[in-house]
Amino acid sequence: MNTFVATTLVPLTYLTSAVLFIFGIKRLSKVRTARSGNAIAALGMLLAVIGSLLEIGLVDYRWIGSGLVIGTAIGTAFALRVAMTAMPEMVALFNGFGGAASGLVAASVVWLRSIAAGSIATGSSTESTVADTLGTAEAVTVCLSILIGAITFTGSVIALMKLQGKLKRGQPILLPARHVLNLALVAGLVGLCGWLGFSATGSTTAMALLAVTGLSLALGVLLVIPIGGADMPVVVSLLNSYSGLAASAAGFVIGNPLLIIAGAMVGAAGLILTQIMCVAMNRSLLNVLVGGFGATDSAGGSSASDDYNGVTSCGPEEAAMVLENAESVIIVPGYGLAVAQAQHTVRELGDLMEKRGARVQYAIHPVAGRMPGHMNVLLAEADVPYEQLVEMDSINPEFKAADVAIVLGANDVVNPVASKDPGSPIYGMPILNAHEARSVFVVKRSLSPGYAGIKNELFEYDNTMMMFGDAKNIIQGLVNEMKTL
Ligand code: NDP
Repeated sequence: MNTFVATTLVPLTYLTSAVLFIFGIKRLSKVRTARSGNAIAALGMLLAVIGSLLEIGLVDYRWIGSGLVIGTAIGTAFALRVAMTAMPEMVALFNGFGGAASGLVAASVVWLRSIAAGSIATGSSTESTVADTLGTAEAVTVCLSILIGAITFTGSVIALMKLQGKLKRGQPILLPARHVLNLALVAGLVGLCGWLGFSATGSTTAMALLAVTGLSLALGVLLVIPIGGADMPVVVSLLNSYSGLAASAAGFVIGNPLLIIAGAMVGAAGLILTQIMCVAMNRSLLNVLVGGFGATDSAGGSSASDDYNGVTSCGPEEAAMVLENAESVIIVPGYGLAVAQAQHTVRELGDLMEKRGARVQYAIHPVAGRMPGHMNVLLAEADVPYEQLVEMDSINPEFKAADVAIVLGANDVVNPVASKDPGSPIYGMPILNAHEARSVFVVKRSLSPGYAGIKNELFEYDNTMMMFGDAKNIIQGLVNEMKTL
């Protein structure tokens, strides 16, 4: 590589990418600018790839070309086919792959520079440790990258399976003596990392590498498996942060400053999001970091539809008569809105209500849906004005004065039990106070529970009327009725 490329072009490319990442993330924080933020960050990533190729110099472009084609094909197919409701699963999968990639990068460095290089040099095993060949700091970051990467990978796979309902998701899976087991695993991993980085040589390095990887994979499973469904948002954002930390550690291993910066940004952004989610779910961060949070040993409440008494229901015609005179309407969107893809229809209803002089607002709970910001994304897709999307803390005082609250495919986020029953798995989670509105219409297909798998006593309240059916059909029915008034 010539000096200009090494001392000027590569650092400049990296610096530009880092700046683009920062601006990209900044723009991602607002729905209005998110699309361009994504494009800016993608451009940063392209520059990062170019910079890395320039820095490495001699590379086999057949491998890079094949990887690019295969990766682009898979990514495009996934992006085109994934349903909006399955997006959180995809994010969980990406987190897992990110962690796995970082761990593999670190493992390959150990393999190439320590294990294989030693065998080639001497024809047998070498006496050098990883710290001897890579340096002390690198030996530590190698271990961190493999450890965090493997935990992120299996943790994300478990989160994915819980989100898909392939693993029991409402209730945590509690192994006996899980805390002791986890502590023993952590202690074992610390010892194994010491062995891998500073003591093992030659073929024992390979054994140490496999042992650290295997135990970390197991720890990832054990940390996420006891977590109850309602705490999944915290897990998803924490794993996102972990994947960034693993990448940052991998950046130290291969001496790539941009990977360090990008990984640190993902790690920090994920941690901030985790903190926001913790506040939303009323969990402490320490509780989260220790792992196994959200695990309650109780059964956590019932969910059968025959547990309900005095539930009343109505159809669109009756609801339209109430809405006709409403001056203030708050719509509470939830996961069911995403399933029914009713965002455009609800926007039509909102517009109709506004034309009749009503004030329409959308109450946004931080964990409504299945991923952070899920409702904002859906409603933005239907061009609902941003000013009408109101965060939980600001909208809650307004429910008392609202004539109507329409709970649209939401369940856990409006369940009053969260503030009443210490035995409930969602106890302590702040909710949207929809029950305080004069009339509440709850649109859902049945009395089935939401993600947390528990009964919702809002359905039994005197001011609540259930509207059973698919959210899109029910809202369309309401729109049709409103048009005839
Ligand atoms: P919930 O999962 O509590 O409830 C969704 C409701 O939507 C269900 O009760 C279901 O009832 C109804 N529904 C499903 N399909 C339709 C449809 N086609 N038409 C009408 N209704 C439908 O959703 P919430 O948004 O209230 O709460 C989110 C939950 O998910 C919380 O427990 C949260 O912790 C968790 N979570 C959140 C994540 C995040 O980051 N936001 C990530 C992972 C989990 P029915 O079947 O009777 O129609």
